[in-house]
Amino acid sequence: MGIDQALLAIDRTCGSGSVLTDADLLASHAHDESEVAPQQPAAVVRVRSTSEVSAVLRAAHEHGVPVVPRGGGTGRVGGAVPVQGAIVLAFERMADVVHIGREDLTAMVEPGVVLGDLHRAVEAEGLFYGPDTNSLDSCRLGGNIGTNAGGPRTLKYGPTRDWVLGMTAVTGDGTVLELGKRTSKGVTGYDLTSLVVGSEGTLAVVTRATVKLVPAPEAVATLLVFVPDLGSAGRAVGAALGEGILPRCVELLDPLALELVRAGAGVPVPDGARAMLLIELDGVERSLETQLERCGEAMLAAGAVEVLVAKDGTERERLWSARRDLSHALRRSARHKLSEDVVVPRTRIPDLLARCATLAERAAIRMPTYGHAGDGNLHVNFLWDDPAKRPQVDAAIRSLFEAVVELGGTLTGEHGIGVLKAPYLPLEQAPELIALQERIKSLFDPRGILNPGKIFPADVRRHFHGAC
Ligand SMILES: Cc1cc2nc3c(=O)[nH]c(=O)nc-3n(C[C@H](O)[C@H](O)[C@H](O)COP(=O)(O)OP(=O)(O)OC[C@H]3O[C@@H](n4cnc5c(N)ncnc54)[C@H](O)[C@@H]3O)c2cc1C
Repeated sequence: MGIDQALLAIDRTCGSGSVLTDADLLASHAHDESEVAPQQPAAVVRVRSTSEVSAVLRAAHEHGVPVVPRGGGTGRVGGAVPVQGAIVLAFERMADVVHIGREDLTAMVEPGVVLGDLHRAVEAEGLFYGPDTNSLDSCRLGGNIGTNAGGPRTLKYGPTRDWVLGMTAVTGDGTVLELGKRTSKGVTGYDLTSLVVGSEGTLAVVTRATVKLVPAPEAVATLLVFVPDLGSAGRAVGAALGEGILPRCVELLDPLALELVRAGAGVPVPDGARAMLLIELDGVERSLETQLERCGEAMLAAGAVEVLVAKDGTERERLWSARRDLSHALRRSARHKLSEDVVVPRTRIPDLLARCATLAERAAIRMPTYGHAGDGNLHVNFLWDDPAKRPQVDAAIRSLFEAVVELGGTLTGEHGIGVLKAPYLPLEQAPELIALQERIKSLFDPRGILNPGKIFPADVRRHFHGAC
């Protein structure tokens, strides 16, 4: 069997103890945080270096064995769910922040570093790394690079791709490549770093990355804004940006989402409030005061019922508590929950929310929506109790994606395509574009062993029949 030969070769090169097959471990590496049906891998290999990753891929390439790179397993689209007979590459032993260059404003990191640990390490040096997924205490840098992760601060600071300058990456046949650069500027050759970021482990395995840092903002201020309706929320967001202020985040909770967290919102929700905005500003202390004042006034002029301001960390945490608890509050509120991550141009958010209301009514389900309104990236949730409703939910999901594309948006803002969104890829991308990407994959991964069954509809159908 190919897998036995591959594991034997890996064991010989990486040393005994690298290949793990105990039942609990295999079960814990069978799923991510999505609804994709778990599939146990044949083995988990805990790698320690680029050369070990290269050895695993050489053996897998030779014997035709699928390999799935895995970070923290917090993905929402099945990106790290193995296909049958796969080897999972795990990076807990490659979790060092290798170097922080204070003067160069860069850090060299291994893929197993937990994002929250990177934040703490660079902040201790007075520096700042922008991407801030809400899963930051459990996701890893390799997974963030695999998904081009974003987060609340993406509005001002951009997603992971904007922060990765270069990387060591291993292709499907075990070739080790140095991509990109270690400097903040540089345009030599094709930008393959950007291509690998967001490729969901299908082109290459990232074994080290050089990321950009910036000086930490001197001060941060948070506003919690309660508005009487979604129209006022839209006007308030437009007003804040119109003031020439670029908040680092603008988060929105629609009426249904606000209702679900009302009890645990951390602060009393005023009676007339039907939606909530959480706005965060950062910058130099002196100018932040003025920005805060102008932003607060713009919110009230747009019809806000109440504006609360937090200036220190404890108050800020209190204001964020409702937003952070939201995903769990939604899960508690229904027997079944699916969550989609879509993006529309900011000005089309009201149209998208109106479409969601129609879809919810037609399917007789609840569809609370929240997310990063500042960059048009919303998490649309589908909540229902009766399992027989699933066909209506599936129809509503397809209609949502059709609406998103029609409104000039895109199927995913941060979670990726993975397994779950692959059936919808043709709604947004032409067959020629999908075929071109498949050809690019075959150059990086000639035998198709790197994270198969992800992104491409035909490939997903082959490996995950039920999902498409
Ligand atoms: C509560 C919660 C909140 C979340 N909030 C956010 C959010 O704010 N923003 C956001 O973007 N996402 C969010 N997510 C989704 C998820 O956390 C992100 O997609 C994250 O980037 C995944 O990282 P991970 O380490 O868990 O990766 P995994 O789930 O393990 O893997 C994700 C993908 O990356 C690939 N990969 C992993 N390691 C490597 C590597 N070394 N080389 C190449 N490819 C690799 C995998 O093959 C897979 O395709 C959230 C998830 C949860 C559960």
